[in-house]
Amino acid sequence: MDKKLESVTIEGKEVALQPGFPVRFACMEHFDQELDDYVNDFEAAPDTYRADLIADEMDKRCRECGAPAKVALLKEKGL
Ligand SMILES: [Zn+2]
Repeated sequence: MDKKLESVTIEGKEVALQPGFPVRFACMEHFDQELDDYVNDFEAAPDTYRADLIADEMDKRCRECGAPAKVALLKEKGL
């Protein structure tokens, strides 16, 4: 399920998110696929971070297979 948030904390810094763009997670195996899906679904290339850099409590499992995620896909505001 997509998580729609106003901001996330990445490496101790609050990062504002573009409204309407969810935070998604992917394992390394499905990263390319999730990247394509994000672009297809939202017509914008996401910003990517290591999943473990995101401090917020959330379900960090791969959207595709449910494995612990390695990468977070999100869209920063104003970039
Ligand atoms: Zn996966």
